[in-house]
Amino acid sequence: MTNDEKFMLHAIELGKQVKGHTGDNPYVGCVIVGAEMILGIGATQPPGKPHAEIRAFMDATKRGHSLIGATLYTTVEPCSFFGRTPPCTSAIIDQQIKRVVIGIRDPNPRVNGQGIRLLEDAGIEVTEGICSTAVRDYLIDWLDTYSCSSTSSIETFDAVSD
Ligand SMILES: [Zn+2]
Repeated sequence: MTNDEKFMLHAIELGKQVKGHTGDNPYVGCVIVGAEMILGIGATQPPGKPHAEIRAFMDATKRGHSLIGATLYTTVEPCSFFGRTPPCTSAIIDQQIKRVVIGIRDPNPRVNGQGIRLLEDAGIEVTEGICSTAVRDYLIDWLDTYSCSSTSSIETFDAVSD
């Protein structure tokens, strides 16, 4: 198992813990790593409250860690639009995160690749598709709200945005 897979599996476990408590938002888990050490962890809060990435920033700050140059693992692509909360992509850029590792793209048409594009435009290295099968499995109830039958429609989303 690679380090990317190890930290993504940790993020999945964090996401599973908040399933049923995030309204119509995905129950995302997030782990921030620097020098192979976990700096902060987070999971999506109820609607209107911070997303997983912001919770992980708060956790790292509380522990006194700087996030400059760190790697952020998130099960779902960071959001790129102002919804009930500001976009997580802006916070990631502000924190000077160096690399973002994503399990799957957010199939929400308002995101679906747009979050990745914003991060890359800011000079952040983005790796996607890490443990994507495990991520789809634990998020299947949420993904089903975008796709009536199977994950094949999600694949189509990816293909279209590429
Ligand atoms: Zn977000």
